[in-house]
Parts: sequence; C-alpha cells; structure tokens
Amino acid sequence: MIETEKKRIFLYNTRTRSKEPFVSQGDCVSLYTCGPTVYNFAHIGNLRTFLFEDILKRTLLFNGLKVKHVMNITDVGHLVSDADTGDDKMETGAVREGKTVWDIAAFYTQAVMADFKKLNFIPADIYCKATDHIAEQINLIKTLEDKGYAYIIDDGVYFDTSKFSRYADFARLRIDELEAGARVEMVKGKRQVTDFALWKFSPKDKQRQMEWESPWGKGFPGWHIECSAMAMKHLGETPDIHCGGIDHIPVHHTNEIAQSEAATGKPFANFWLHGEFLVLEKEKMAKSGGNFIILKTLEERGIGPFVYRFFCLSAHYRAPLAFSWEAIQNAQQGYNSLVSKISELRNNPGLGFPTDVQPYEVEFQREINDDLNMPRAIAVLWKVLRSDALQNSQKLALAESFDRVFGLGLGQVSGTFVSDIPAELLQLLNERNQARKAKDWPLSDCLRDTILEKGYKIIDTATGAKLEKIT
Ligand SMILES: [Zn+2]
Ligand SMILES: [Zn+2]
Repeated sequence: MIETEKKRIFLYNTRTRSKEPFVSQGDCVSLYTCGPTVYNFAHIGNLRTFLFEDILKRTLLFNGLKVKHVMNITDVGHLVSDADTGDDKMETGAVREGKTVWDIAAFYTQAVMADFKKLNFIPADIYCKATDHIAEQINLIKTLEDKGYAYIIDDGVYFDTSKFSRYADFARLRIDELEAGARVEMVKGKRQVTDFALWKFSPKDKQRQMEWESPWGKGFPGWHIECSAMAMKHLGETPDIHCGGIDHIPVHHTNEIAQSEAATGKPFANFWLHGEFLVLEKEKMAKSGGNFIILKTLEERGIGPFVYRFFCLSAHYRAPLAFSWEAIQNAQQGYNSLVSKISELRNNPGLGFPTDVQPYEVEFQREINDDLNMPRAIAVLWKVLRSDALQNSQKLALAESFDRVFGLGLGQVSGTFVSDIPAELLQLLNERNQARKAKDWPLSDCLRDTILEKGYKIIDTATGAKLEKIT
C-alpha cells in the first residue's frame, strides 16, 4: 500500500484547476505538446515551456511508465493576431528574409531541433508538420460542417462558438467582457467575437506561397485545427495529457477543445498542463541589449544550455520565472558548484560509510510526483550531496538516478574537474581505506605515513577519511 502511495503522480489539471492523481488510460501515456511556429528562432521563453514538458515526460518515465509523445511543428496558418486577422507569421518571416516560406520552415525547424538537442530534451516520438496534414484538417472541418458547427463567410470557414455551450468553461472566459472589448478589426461577418477560423481563403489580391484546394475554396487551415487533427491522428480522440504555455489557455486550447469535442463528443484530453511565462525584467534587460533572447545569445555570453536548464529548474513550472543577466549568472554559479561537488565525489568514491538510500529515493520521488516540484527535488539532491550519512559512491548513484529527471548531464561530470588533491594521494587514501576495512593495521599505518611524507594528513570523520594539506 505504501509502495503504491509513494508512486502516485499528482498533476495540476487546468481543466479542473486542481491537482489530481494522474492515471493513464493505457499502459502507454499519450502526450501531446503544442510545438513551435517555425518562422524565427525559439526565444528562451518558448524554450522554458518545452523544457517543462521534457521534465514532465522524464517524470513519467522515471515512474516506470511508457510515453508516446507527439509534438507539432506549425509551418502554416499561425496569424500575427489571435483574432484571425493579420498576416501569416510564416509568410512574414519569408518576406523578412527574402526566402521562400518552405525554406524558412525548413531552416527554423532545424534550428529549434538543434536547441532541443543542446538542452538535452528526450526527442518526441513524432514531430508532425501542419503542412503534412492538410487532408486530415480538411476532413475534421467537414465533420464540423456536417454537424452544424461551421459557417462560411467571405474570409473563410468559421467555427460557431455559440453552438458549443461549454465554450467559455475551460478558460473561465467572460464572453460579455470579450464582446465589450471586441476590436474594430474583428473579421467582417463573424457572428461571435469568439468564433474562429477553421479554413481561411487565400486573399484575392495577393498570391500566397502556401495554399491548398478545399471543398470551400483555395486557402489554408486556421492555426488551431492542426493540433486537433494531428493529436487525434497520432494519439486518438482523447490523449492522456495535452500541454502548452499558459498563453494557450484562452484562445488556442479553448478553440482546440471546442472543435475537437464538437466533432467527437469526447473530452479532447484528460489532463491539460500549462507552463508559466519566463518574465524578462525589462529595465535590466534593456540596458544589456534587447528582449529577444535565444539560446545562442546565452552561449555568446558563456552561459551553456545546461545552465539554462538548471535555471529553469529553480522555479516551479506554474510560477513565473524572472530572467535577468544577474539571475542567470547566479544559476551559473549554482550549476558550477553542483558540478564541482559531483567531481569531488568522483575523486573519492569510497569515502564515507554505506547506509540506507531508500529514504532519499522516496523523498525525491514524492517531490517530482507532486506536480513536478523541481525546486524541492533539487533541494533533495543537495541534501544527498551534502549528507554526512552516505558513502560518496551512493551519493553519485543517487545523483545519477535523479538526473534521469533533471537532465543536467551530471553523469558526464568527470572526477578530475576541480580536484586540488593529486590523484596519487587519492589513490593512497583509497588503499588505506581498503586496508582499514580489511583490518590490516600495519599496512594502514604504513600508508598513513607515506601520505604524511607527501605533505597531507588524514582526518578521520564520522563519514570517512579526508585529506588535508599540511601548511
Ligand atoms: Zn497547438
Ligand atoms: Zn494544443
């Protein structure tokens, strides 16, 4: 009983606004995460969201679950404005760089994949592009049209949100307030301010680079429909978990839910998880150059991807995280001391006395399973590393085990990183430890003398022997 209690995972479900015990429907968790729009580099705020999703996946895997992870690549239809007006971000990117939309998509897809790799994300099982799923999107729109949820205006095919009575529930929207605040730019012919495009017609005065034939006319899919079509295709009508940034709640995910559930009559996902923003401290940032910070901007300042990862783990994913150069430099120091601690342990694996590691394992799992509480899980790691009651090799084993969730590359830290004690002496100390273990006192004393001759004394502590330079 205690065993199963220990392993329960609790996740905060946006749909119910509460932490719930997570149960997957099958033996493999189906996970859909809204992916990048590939018209520019991903900024570090986008990357924070993807990182939280990687932590989620790693936590599920750590608990022994299997995961099928699908992430979409938005390469068409994401307009500059959420109100279905303005240009397609992809076409804007193409104009900006004087390339074709297809080239822009290919280039920035590759760039974001390189970022994912540097940040040590476990790759998704499927990365799917909107432009590869036009037929699926058209079919879904046809279903909605057949069921009476769609109407056609000059601008395209729209979803009639008044026909879906739960529309406002997910984001707890106040429709009257939205109507009061409706901008003049509202698409002409739209019945409700919340109605959204399923299919947009190509403009009559301008040739689009990406457009397709459809039963309603030449055009391109609205942004939201791609996620519904691809999630259902690859994960079924009700995936276990669907994730994104909190900015997805009021429009993108609200619309995904409306169109999917209107089409299938089933919940579109059982769990909805959302990551909070990375907040750029504007005053501080403005002084030091720009607000569009990408991974490369950090690297140019000597801040590696693992440091950014470590920085993100310092806040819970549902709390805003303030970014400033000062804050990231503090994280760099924190990460460096973590690495040197690991290195130090590797130099002296035999130091200390073995003890029961289970309480630490239980505590760690409890923290990660409590809605992915990384700040507290990191605190457990430090508790292990600084413990007086564990052998160094045990600390290392625990750190490496925990790192299956953190993904901080701790397994790659070598033992020679920051040692100021010569390897020869560590070797002698190890031999002396072995001699004591074997109760070979003459050999033990002899080794102690050798160490003394070389300028170091041995200090026996409750946790094992340490070397100290004689000054
Ligand atoms: Zn999406
Ligand atoms: Zn989504």
